[in-house]
Amino acid sequence: MQEKNSSETMRNGADSKRSRLVKTIVVFSLVAIVAAISGADFLKNRSQAKLYPGPGVTSTTSLGAYLPNLKGTAGDSPVYIMDSGKPGETIVVLGGTHCDEPSGYIAAVALVENAVVSSGRMIVVPQADRSGFTHTTPLEAYPSRFEIETKGGKRWFCFGSRLANPIDQWPDPDIMLHYPSGQKLSGDETRNLNRSYPGKPDGVFIERVAYAITTLVKKEHAALTIDLHEAPLEYFFIDALAVSEKAREIGVIAQLNLSMQDIEMGIEASPQNLRGLSHRELASATPTMTFLMETANPSQGRFRGRTTADLVVDGKDVCYETAAKYKRLFVKFDSSGKPISLRVGRHLVGITEILNAYNELNPDKAIYVDGIPAYEEVLSEGIGSFLHSPSVE
Ligand SMILES: [Zn+2]
Repeated sequence: MQEKNSSETMRNGADSKRSRLVKTIVVFSLVAIVAAISGADFLKNRSQAKLYPGPGVTSTTSLGAYLPNLKGTAGDSPVYIMDSGKPGETIVVLGGTHCDEPSGYIAAVALVENAVVSSGRMIVVPQADRSGFTHTTPLEAYPSRFEIETKGGKRWFCFGSRLANPIDQWPDPDIMLHYPSGQKLSGDETRNLNRSYPGKPDGVFIERVAYAITTLVKKEHAALTIDLHEAPLEYFFIDALAVSEKAREIGVIAQLNLSMQDIEMGIEASPQNLRGLSHRELASATPTMTFLMETANPSQGRFRGRTTADLVVDGKDVCYETAAKYKRLFVKFDSSGKPISLRVGRHLVGITEILNAYNELNPDKAIYVDGIPAYEEVLSEGIGSFLHSPSVE
């Protein structure tokens, strides 16, 4: 009887060992599957959308050419040069400073793929903060990619973060100290390119990116620099142009010419006391005249509803419609939304009118750029009609 009991106990022990082993294998397999799926999704963020330089691009380089310690890093962002080979000044256009503001990035891509310079030069950096395109902002629950329909199929683009990826700059200090002013901002702003100008050659990652851009503007003798942004609809500085003191006259003429086309563009002087902004610092550190343009981005603000790739592209959101009814927004908003084509169109026509105003005042140094998609055409055909088709390699 005792022997029978002990053999039963042994059998029960072996059974429970086996069941523990099976449970362990199942749990580990599930963990491995989840890790593989999320790891693949995480790695997907590291790949960048392909751009197709158009007939106007005469050479390409990268920010590492302006600051060697950026070479091979996420900050070594492509720089597209369109040189007419004919006399005229140089304009620099920056897109993708904040990587959750897609119309600035797409407008810069549209320039690279369409513009042809017939006098002077245009230099375009579509991803000023390339690191910001490799991740999304935690807790914001938005997609890491969106798609635009072109004539030959859909093209995907990264939707990133306002800040550089912590993988490239870590840890954040409690308080950001702007170099060289010593201005204090919250710690995570230390990864914000548009708080880090003029930058520092041996500083943290984003200070080095800012320094490379400042050096580019200086070395290439840019007469004009335009930084393309978007803002949430509940933010007061929206559908607007910030101009440095020396760019004011051009800004006012551009604003007037835009209003004659029924395109309202607010204008504001660059704040002298808020340091680190591109238009504030590049105008101080170099001879360039600076502009920063903002369009209304419904996929960015706090009142927005569910943030899908469709919201990024069609800009339609019932939560913003409600907010507009209660007069809580700084722009008009209804069921037609704020589509990306409208926002990119505004950036492109803004650049065109800044160039027209500059050329009117400086005919001997004019920068003539052909092929920039026209505002009305972008609205009627969609910006995708002006982007390279992925089916044509
Ligand atoms: Zn911005």
